[in-house]
Amino acid sequence: MSSLQLIDENKTFNEQLLPYIQRYYDGKDDNGLNYHIVSVFGSQSTGKSTLLNRLFGTEFEVMDEAKRQQTTKGIWISHAKYIASSKAESGRTENNNHVFVLDVEGVDGREKADDKDFERKSALFALSTSEILIVNIWEHQVGLYQGANMELLKTVFEVNLSLFHSNRQKCLLLFVVRDFTGVTPLENLEENLKTDLNKIWESLSRPENCEGLKITDFFDLSFVSISHKHFQKERFEEDIRLLGDKFASDSLFKQEYHRNIPIDAWTIYMDQIWQQIELNKDLDLPTQQILVARFRCDEIMQQAYDIFEEQYQMVNFGELEDSQVFADALKQLRSEALAPYDSSASRYTQSVYLERREQLIKKIDQRLTETNSQRLNSVIKKLVSQFSEQVQIAKKKRDAKFSGILEAQAAAIVAQFREDASKCIFDHSRELEQLEQELSDVSEQLRHKEKNLLLSRLTKKFQTQFKEKLTEITGDPSIDLWDRVLNEFSEITQSLESKYVSDDAYDYQLGMTKQENKDTHIQLLQSFWTKFKDIVHDYVTEDTVSRILRNKFEDLFRYDDNDVPRVWLNTPEIDQQYNKARDTVLSLLPVFSKMVLARTNEEIVPPVNISTTDSEELDEDDKESTFAELLSTKQQNGALSRVKKEMDAIYIEAKRSVMANTTS
Ligand code: GDP
Ligand code: MG
Repeated sequence: MSSLQLIDENKTFNEQLLPYIQRYYDGKDDNGLNYHIVSVFGSQSTGKSTLLNRLFGTEFEVMDEAKRQQTTKGIWISHAKYIASSKAESGRTENNNHVFVLDVEGVDGREKADDKDFERKSALFALSTSEILIVNIWEHQVGLYQGANMELLKTVFEVNLSLFHSNRQKCLLLFVVRDFTGVTPLENLEENLKTDLNKIWESLSRPENCEGLKITDFFDLSFVSISHKHFQKERFEEDIRLLGDKFASDSLFKQEYHRNIPIDAWTIYMDQIWQQIELNKDLDLPTQQILVARFRCDEIMQQAYDIFEEQYQMVNFGELEDSQVFADALKQLRSEALAPYDSSASRYTQSVYLERREQLIKKIDQRLTETNSQRLNSVIKKLVSQFSEQVQIAKKKRDAKFSGILEAQAAAIVAQFREDASKCIFDHSRELEQLEQELSDVSEQLRHKEKNLLLSRLTKKFQTQFKEKLTEITGDPSIDLWDRVLNEFSEITQSLESKYVSDDAYDYQLGMTKQENKDTHIQLLQSFWTKFKDIVHDYVTEDTVSRILRNKFEDLFRYDDNDVPRVWLNTPEIDQQYNKARDTVLSLLPVFSKMVLARTNEEIVPPVNISTTDSEELDEDDKESTFAELLSTKQQNGALSRVKKEMDAIYIEAKRSVMANTTS
């Protein structure tokens, strides 16, 4: 098959156009623009196909001279096998620039309306898709304005004008005067034709803004002659070869005639133009080009994205720990995806190419931004834990206050993050915000921890000192025991507070606000008072109290005021001493039933609330035990009977020793 019936007699477009074209030229090795379209226009049986076949080595059907049979109706396309040449010995030269030829086989449009329609549509199609339109005309028709050719030209011009006036695309009208005799010089014929063309042009109904424009604003005009095929056989062949030289030398083709649509898309473009002609819509060529551009750019964009996705999947981003390496990898993925798009899509209408490019970038960047965020999130995690560690290290150096350490370390971490993240082109403001939030949360936690540490350290110190003092004071019980205890308590807490708190310890150390500072102070007092209660309540038991009182009794009974052991001389002396010591000891027992101050006769009540649970939740029974209450009546009786027994034993022992001395 050397030629393809592009449009058949039923006006159907042949979908095999692309494979047909690609057999000769697929445009893959260059930009797809190295091709030319030439078509022919003219009345039936004026030797159009004969001319094309000789000129381009095509094999379009030619009417059989003997039978005068009609050729098959339709528009045919063929790749030029060669271009006729007067220079080459073979008479032909290579078709290096891929000239494709459209041959229109019509009927003499005078008979049927349908034929006329086809003739007009074919002519329009030829004109709107070609760079060069060969207008084939007999010499003897020149000047005959009424000729069918001119009428058709007028129609075609008119429609053409309505199409092109907004975006003019020039093409060359190459008039080929056939059966040229030479009697009238070609220049004269040229003048005649130009006059006719101008007449046609003037008589056209033109769109408003095209009124001042000339035919040459839309078409370049060129004229050649070809001698009679039968009468001047040699000249006929030579004329065709000379015309071939013009095509081969590119002197006819101009850049501005080319539609600049890569060959693969050009087939779609052709199809769409034909559909538009068929539907009798206005042929809006720029729109067609944009449609093609959208179609192809979408396709190319998708391909580019697919390649990107494939390469993206192959990268193990987790391994790219270095931020620069990571950023470079993203950059490379991006540019590698854009390169094939740019090289294929940039040939199409720029606005569409750029618009789709934006879309592609957006799609790619979305993916890459996600990846970048993922990495930044793990960077944040690492940095936050690094922050805690560095705060601990700096704290050990003890050369700055804690709040200052927190601030300095957080600033250092943020700077580190900024440096890392800014290597990548993608926005990181959201992640930065997240980091700052986390750092402030962690700072708050560390401050809280630090504060609790201080509180518990102070409480521990209190505990040790207070326990010691309590034991000491209770070892020498007296009626004003709790006044003494409370005095000690005040002394210890004051000394601790003055050491750690009065110089704004929390404030200084932890950067707390005035209110926080106040609250912390209350917290400290609460824990001191709680410890006070716990220690006293733990210590003052039936056991301890009876032991304390027994010891007190022994001291009073066995030793004199100078701490010298007494030597009993007689039993009345023992009785007297016993009664005295016993009365004193028994009078001390109530001291251990409740913490009451001797000087005011009031219970000790903590100035701060130390109940751990909400008091409203407590039952009536639980409320009975107050801060000051120590031994219950039962416990007091228990202690009393134990102390009494022990005092009696000591008394009897003393008596026995006196009696033993006197009897011996
Ligand atoms: P088409 O319908 O325009 O394609 O014309 P064809 O190429 O089919 O030719 C129609 C008839 O004209 C054929 O019988 C050809 O031999 C004849 N013919 C072709 N070229 C010429 C020419 O240059 N001069 C004359 N007088 N006849 C020609
Ligand atoms: Mg023909």
